[in-house]
Amino acid sequence: MVPIHFLLNTEGKKHSNGTFHPESAQRIEVVESWLSTQSNPNITYGYNNIEASREDIEIIHSSNHYDLIKKTKGIDQYFRFDADTSANGYTFQAATQAVEIGKIAITQSNLSKSIFALVRPPGHHATQTTPMGFCIFNNIAIATQYALNRSLYKRIAIIDFDQHFGNGTAYIHEHNPSVLYISTHADPRMAYPGTGFVEEIGKGDGRGFSICIPLGYRATEFDISLAFQRLLTPILFQFKPEILAISAGFDGYERDPIGILGISLEGFGLIGQILQSIALDLEIPVAHFLEGGYNIKMFPLLISTYVQSFCSNNDNKKDKIIEQAQDQTILTLKKAQTLLKDFWEI
Ligand SMILES: [Zn+2]
Repeated sequence: MVPIHFLLNTEGKKHSNGTFHPESAQRIEVVESWLSTQSNPNITYGYNNIEASREDIEIIHSSNHYDLIKKTKGIDQYFRFDADTSANGYTFQAATQAVEIGKIAITQSNLSKSIFALVRPPGHHATQTTPMGFCIFNNIAIATQYALNRSLYKRIAIIDFDQHFGNGTAYIHEHNPSVLYISTHADPRMAYPGTGFVEEIGKGDGRGFSICIPLGYRATEFDISLAFQRLLTPILFQFKPEILAISAGFDGYERDPIGILGISLEGFGLIGQILQSIALDLEIPVAHFLEGGYNIKMFPLLISTYVQSFCSNNDNKKDKIIEQAQDQTILTLKKAQTLLKDFWEI
């Protein structure tokens, strides 16, 4: 049982991609309203308004990228980076605050407290040079590199269960054997960003340290459980991370307006249990970073179901039977095992 502290960026709700956009301020408003009324003493929240410095952001991003975002500060209109990613006059502050909260999450989560960066804009699609996929700066990639640079940790595992492949995070760290990047996501032939194939296992010294498990249409928590049971948990135990950094996305929910997976509400509890159990067995802290999730009505319930797995005692629910996984998942896992067997005992 590990208490969770949610940290919100004060300008997060002012950032906008435009009207009728799924990545809206409402996502945070509904979770805030749940936080203000829920009674679990192990779940707390607070705000932070400190902006990360240029120096911190340039640990990962190019100067041009930073300057491009900074130029939008205070604009009256929207500035469009691509078809679905924009900035308004508050985006620069929101995004630099989100990076700062990410740094806090990775440096201050410990065995007796987990920090959940409940921030907008999200980060995992942002590459070194380009904002994309609703993401401006890559909060989790920056936080990870920041902690490594300060020697707070020698090995960090990033686990990304958003329904989209975190291309930004994966490619930023693809050469780095100190970062194990694991992602379960919708098949890139059907879903944004169109990459994240099982063959993408990292490059150079980082070969074997990127693991992509693409999932079939309407795949569920059982497919994710199977991936952990057969492949991901054994690799995590061999890698021996000193912290888990989680890209927590909830758009794999079966009724997400832009999702194509079929994860149930309870499924997010199961995912939380799997991650908590790994962290407990390895005796390491967990830091959470909000990515996607666009069913506004269900968003607080999805997040609360997930986090309650971390801050409640629920050991007896751990061994749920995995018999409903798709054939495609079983084949993908076999392929991943073949591709990764030179790097891990699997
Ligand atoms: Zn997503």
